[in-house]
Amino acid sequence: MTAQTVQEGEPVTVIGLEVHVQLETETKIFCGCSTAPTDEPNENVCPVCLGLPGALPVLNEAAVEAAVKIGKAIDADIPEETRFHRKNYYYPDLPKNFQITQYDEPICADGDLEISVEGERRTVTIERAHLEEDPGSLQHVGGGIDTADYTLVNYNRAGTPLMEIVTAPDFRSPAEVRAFLAELEEVLEYLGVFDAERDGSLRVDANLSIVPGEEVGDGGEIADDVLADANRTEVKNISSHKGAEKALAYEETRQKNAIQRGRAVEQETRHWDESRGITVSMRSKEAEKDYRYFEEADLPPLQVADWKEEIAIPELPSARRERFGEEYDLSEEAASKLTTTKQVADFYEDLASEFDPDLAATWVADELLGELNYRDMEITDVEDRLAEIERLVELVASEEITTKNARETVLRGMLDDGDDPDTVVEREDLGKTGADEVQQAVEAAIAENPDAVSDYEAGEDGAINFLVGQVMQKTGGSADPGDVNGLLREELES
Ligand code: ADP
Ligand code: ZN
Ligand code: MG
Repeated sequence: MTAQTVQEGEPVTVIGLEVHVQLETETKIFCGCSTAPTDEPNENVCPVCLGLPGALPVLNEAAVEAAVKIGKAIDADIPEETRFHRKNYYYPDLPKNFQITQYDEPICADGDLEISVEGERRTVTIERAHLEEDPGSLQHVGGGIDTADYTLVNYNRAGTPLMEIVTAPDFRSPAEVRAFLAELEEVLEYLGVFDAERDGSLRVDANLSIVPGEEVGDGGEIADDVLADANRTEVKNISSHKGAEKALAYEETRQKNAIQRGRAVEQETRHWDESRGITVSMRSKEAEKDYRYFEEADLPPLQVADWKEEIAIPELPSARRERFGEEYDLSEEAASKLTTTKQVADFYEDLASEFDPDLAATWVADELLGELNYRDMEITDVEDRLAEIERLVELVASEEITTKNARETVLRGMLDDGDDPDTVVEREDLGKTGADEVQQAVEAAIAENPDAVSDYEAGEDGAINFLVGQVMQKTGGSADPGDVNGLLREELES
């Protein structure tokens, strides 16, 4: 990662991540079982994902395509040929007693991802990203992992395609990790290979060590052998950005305290207990040799050389953010809001091609996303109503209704009652009052309020506000207050 300034002599926090992301495919990675979420335990299973004797894996093409897309997005090397391996260990959620994964020939190597932390751009190296199958899931009943009365096993998840993304130890704070995870999720969603809303779709193992200040160079650089020798803990069971930041902040403090008291930091695996907000020791850290990796003989080597050229990826969020800034002259904040998901960005570009890009930005970034957020909704929840929202913006752009009514009555009515904009406008009689009617109201307000008029004429400018209020009342709030103000002044000065 690009070097950053650190306080000389101070110990430095070093973090590296292993992120497991669930790839959005219809079926599992080595069998035809559905990956659709279900509440029925052990519903989506077959001899392959249950590890029954004699069952053979068949690789899912869609999982490979997703992996190649990720590789392209992080600018990784994708080798001509890649292989699968068996990682051997026993755990009740792993019916074969080995996990099919990739060992020394991963599908993606040496990529990177740019993040922005407190306005500063940094590049995080991604050492590798490989395909593997997810184990099943365990449900601890009557307590946590170490206190439960008993545990239920569910193999619905077993065989779900995962991409394990391993970063270099490039992070220097929990906040950087959070920024990275947010950017990574955005990219994955743009690629259409990931659903952040799906339960457990992102799981993070986070490695953290504290490197003594004297081992850190002036520019913040740390030698590879120092990094390799630093005692680190691996925190498992992190399933959100916020969780990652909290777990790592806890772990950072715990290790610093141990060092301060002259105790060594144990090299171990720890479990993040979300509800208690602490990490607890699980076991001493396993070494690679413990897994007895060997080649998966039931799957031939995978050739992706020619195929990968045909797999295209869309413009990514960072590029799109930058382009929005230039092409539509948007602030960084607006461009950033409008590119958080591909759906939002696509919708914005639709509107910006028809209406004023500034007006479109306000309506998507502020009004629409604001109202959706307030209702705990996403753009995907109104996917089939984008034409209606477009019509609403058209009503505003053509000044058929006021901005205030559009926001407070029409958009809210659309979201809360499911009505289309024209229905709400008609029902609430929001059509802007015609010019004649406004003019009549202006004249009437002047005739009916001689005191305010003489105050105005005596130089008391504030009296105009009273008259504006009178006109607004007469027109039922459907006139534009700025226009009314102008009309009144014209009338009074003539
Ligand atoms: P292992 O062989 O223990 O799995 P790896 O070299 O494969 O170690 O790295 C696993 C993860 O540990 C990577 O995400 C890497 O960035 C991280 N890591 C390596 N060294 C350190 C360190 N000194 N502090 C924190 N994380 C580290
Ligand atoms: Zn199956
Ligand atoms: Mg490793």
